[in-house]
Amino acid sequence: MRLANLDGRAVILTTDTTAFDVADASEGRFGPDIQGIYDDWDDFTAWAGTASSAEIALEQGRLGPVSPRPLQSLGIGLNYADHVTESGFGRPEKLPPVFPKFQSSIVGPYETVALVPGGRTDWEAELVIVIGRTAHSIAEGSGWDYVAGATVGQDLSERATQLEGPAPQFGLGKSFPGYSPQGPWLVTPDELPDRDDLGITGTLDGEVVQTGRTSQMIFPVGVLIEKLSQILVLQPGDVIYTGTPSGVGFTREPEWLIQPGQTLVTTIEGIGTIRQTFTG
Ligand code: ZN
Repeated sequence: MRLANLDGRAVILTTDTTAFDVADASEGRFGPDIQGIYDDWDDFTAWAGTASSAEIALEQGRLGPVSPRPLQSLGIGLNYADHVTESGFGRPEKLPPVFPKFQSSIVGPYETVALVPGGRTDWEAELVIVIGRTAHSIAEGSGWDYVAGATVGQDLSERATQLEGPAPQFGLGKSFPGYSPQGPWLVTPDELPDRDDLGITGTLDGEVVQTGRTSQMIFPVGVLIEKLSQILVLQPGDVIYTGTPSGVGFTREPEWLIQPGQTLVTTIEGIGTIRQTFTG
């Protein structure tokens, strides 16, 4: 199943360009707000398997984030070995760095993002996971059982804020308004071609800047959820930006950062594509 947020209403896709409205089809049992659906995820997916209703057009410009108001929104750092190397940090062994992608930074898949004035904004193409069941101290090997689905994201990062000061400010540097785009829709794990091996590509003004595969993760999705759940109580609707492959801009020489007027396109195999344009 593919689930999207169209003008603030949950819809189930029937094709790449058509969908039906969840609240209308369920006569109010689920929706219209997509966020509450994750609290009822098992009942919802059981119902959705046989649901249908009148088709509506899925217009790109009306799509919002797949989890607009998660209780917790997390980012994972240093989860691809090549990115660890280019960043100059040590390879994480027990746990990767974890930081908040604060809720106020979350936007839909095709927004115009205002760059931080005087800042150094960089791209990070990432697989984003949405939690579908409460997960606390879960068993080894069961992480994917707690996933509602996957979507495409950018962990946009303002490096000056992130790296200045006596200790890194990962949470704030990556949480300016619009800096956590996600979409275009949620894909349930059963519909992914290979849930642990998806190609990720990022392009800036048509030039490929990042390529990788989620099979290169140091902590794969299932392991991440298992490890996070030993500390946190992950809640339905929670969002995890799972880390970026190599090819970010700030470690290049000379440093390469996003400029006003540029377009960033991020694609994940089996899910879809998001696109941001930037203003100064
Ligand atoms: Zn990141």
